[in-house]
Amino acid sequence: MPKYHIWTIGCQMNKAESERLGSRFEELGYETANAAEADLIVLNSCVVRQSAENRVLNKLNAMKALKKVRPEVMLALTGCLVNSRVDLLRKRFPYVDHFFKPGDYPPWLEKTDILSLPIHPSPAVYVTIIQGCDNFCSYCIVPYRRGRERSRPITEIACEVRDLVNRGAEEVTLLGQNVDSYGHDLPDRPDLADLLTELNDIDGLARLRFLTNHPKDMSLKLIEAIARLDRVCEQISLPVQSGSDDILKLMKRGYTAEQYRHLITQIRDKIPGVALSTDIIVGFPSESAGQFQQTVNLLSETKFDTVHVAAYSPRTGTLAAREFEDNIPLPEKKERLKEVEQLQEGIQTEINGRLLDETVEILVEGKVRGKWYGRTRTDKLVFFGSDDNCHGRMMKIRIDKTSPWSLQGTAELSQTSQEE
Ligand code: SAM
Ligand code: SF4
Repeated sequence: MPKYHIWTIGCQMNKAESERLGSRFEELGYETANAAEADLIVLNSCVVRQSAENRVLNKLNAMKALKKVRPEVMLALTGCLVNSRVDLLRKRFPYVDHFFKPGDYPPWLEKTDILSLPIHPSPAVYVTIIQGCDNFCSYCIVPYRRGRERSRPITEIACEVRDLVNRGAEEVTLLGQNVDSYGHDLPDRPDLADLLTELNDIDGLARLRFLTNHPKDMSLKLIEAIARLDRVCEQISLPVQSGSDDILKLMKRGYTAEQYRHLITQIRDKIPGVALSTDIIVGFPSESAGQFQQTVNLLSETKFDTVHVAAYSPRTGTLAAREFEDNIPLPEKKERLKEVEQLQEGIQTEINGRLLDETVEILVEGKVRGKWYGRTRTDKLVFFGSDDNCHGRMMKIRIDKTSPWSLQGTAELSQTSQEE
């Protein structure tokens, strides 16, 4: 049997696209293997920050060495390192056999686009609803690599979700760089609230999630839909990036810190118990200590459930890289990064600590190092032990240990061996 290997870094979108590629390879008769044994290797790359790009370049170097020993291996590169100048990429990486853009498909798969590829059934799956991004935040490379926004019609998404549910999926996460602008390019201009309303009625589907939202596009209609629809989880990812209006302006985010705070208040009013996550960039060009403090203040006040924080990394081709000097020294960026991480660790200790001795419901997604794991509707990661096969089950877990990053608990007895 021929063997394939896919190496993936980056966002959920990359992970979802790799899953689809893997399923298609299996349909074509390939089986999964490690890189040393594979006949076909796909690298799914990310260049959102220099650190990610460096990892991709290291991987490519390792593949160059592997191709010297086993020249017959077919090597393909996809993800955001692949831009429209494939001719230049070919010169730079002559040992790579195929290049295909993120969200595109390699011609040998004989399908028209990546979204027509199947996904392995599993309890929790990702479904892309909108590709690309029209926002052009000044620091971000994504719109240059993933192109303009293209929404999939509601009927097509509903059909795929029904099929996934029939094959065992219980939770679906809808993906897009900016899911709030879903539908603006479709006839009749449906929006994300309409899509969620349609999917909420699918029999057998237990949970719906979606990411990522853009604060400037999040509507009251959407917030009310999340509050109303029983399958839609109380969890919203809402990247703020900075708490300073001046920096937000330079970032071209299209909202002020005050508007963002107002949005959070509206969300918390309408959706009790909602879990919120955000993204922060520290050390953006010209970010002063005072402007950084405004970000810290916003984080201390808001108390997000999760924060993804990164140091600004100039990306060639973006407005920020062209127009602003990367003038915050690396040690200062690292200090700011550490400050946010420490603050957030304290906040997560407090938020997760409140769940001690509580019983939560999780969908069990798999097993690692002998422990089953799953997530609550609010996206808390929970581990527990059981000799039963709990895969795909909705289970009640009593929490007996908490940490800032995850929870540990015990399955309520009535659901495990006694039931079987
Ligand atoms: N579309 C989402 C949004 O509006 O924030 C997220 C997409 S972006 C690929 C994921 C995160 O990477 C961003 O939220 C941002 O915090 C971070 N990011 C993007 N470009 C960056 C850069 N040049 N330097 C540091 N972090 C960056
Ligand atoms: Fe990048 Fe901004 Fe688009 Fe997010 S919304 S992908 S940060 S350009």
